[in-house]
Amino acid sequence: MIPLLAFLLVNAAWNQPFPPHKVIGNVYYVGTSELSSYLITTPQGDILINSSFEESVPIIRRAVEKLGFKFTDIKILLISHAHNDHCAGSALVKKLTGAKYMVMEGDVAEVESGGAGDFIYKDRWAPAKVDRVLHDGDTVALGGTVLTAHLTPGHTKGCTTWTLKVPEGGKTYDVVIVGSPNVNEGYKLVNNPRYPHMADDFARTFRVLHALPCDVFPGAPNPLIDPAVYRANIYERQRAFEAKLQEQRAAR
Ligand SMILES: [Zn+2]
Repeated sequence: MIPLLAFLLVNAAWNQPFPPHKVIGNVYYVGTSELSSYLITTPQGDILINSSFEESVPIIRRAVEKLGFKFTDIKILLISHAHNDHCAGSALVKKLTGAKYMVMEGDVAEVESGGAGDFIYKDRWAPAKVDRVLHDGDTVALGGTVLTAHLTPGHTKGCTTWTLKVPEGGKTYDVVIVGSPNVNEGYKLVNNPRYPHMADDFARTFRVLHALPCDVFPGAPNPLIDPAVYRANIYERQRAFEAKLQEQRAAR
């Protein structure tokens, strides 16, 4: 367990303001120094991906306003997964904007209970009501922009990778916003009664991520318009997962 002071320091370090900027087309980075949030603007209102910590919300709000957009134009709130650093601010974002909260089925219980049923972490946050439960392959559409929700579980049970096609300068780009392929410290990949199929879920996630077409891979803090970087990153994360799986199987 992380001591409270250390946690607060980590939290503060992740939560520094970061210059908001356009990633590509109607996709903007509005996150903090370490925690990615994306604003996708449309003529019918905007979409925010990741509310991050509750303390991040004013930073995200200022980033949105600095780009010349209105925070209250956010109509839909999405997340990458139900960990506090990506979703603890959701209740506040909903309160400030009235946005509809759309979450993958496997993460709904977590966000609605404020993290009470997590398979490893003890963090708690303000519970937020989900307005639409998503399933693998569902689309979220607003003002001509369509995002597809890909279930990429393991990191959490409903971890979601978002894809969209973005036109820019006469071309169309495939943008992939990866949920998280990370096997965190302390994750029990084998013999885990709180998440029995975690290893299978991670394996599925790597299959899905390898199969996705990707031109733009917006990583924090800087966007990468380079498909090779996306591929290399996925292979690197997969090798890390496989090494941990082998290690944990050997230790049994
Ligand atoms: Zn996480």
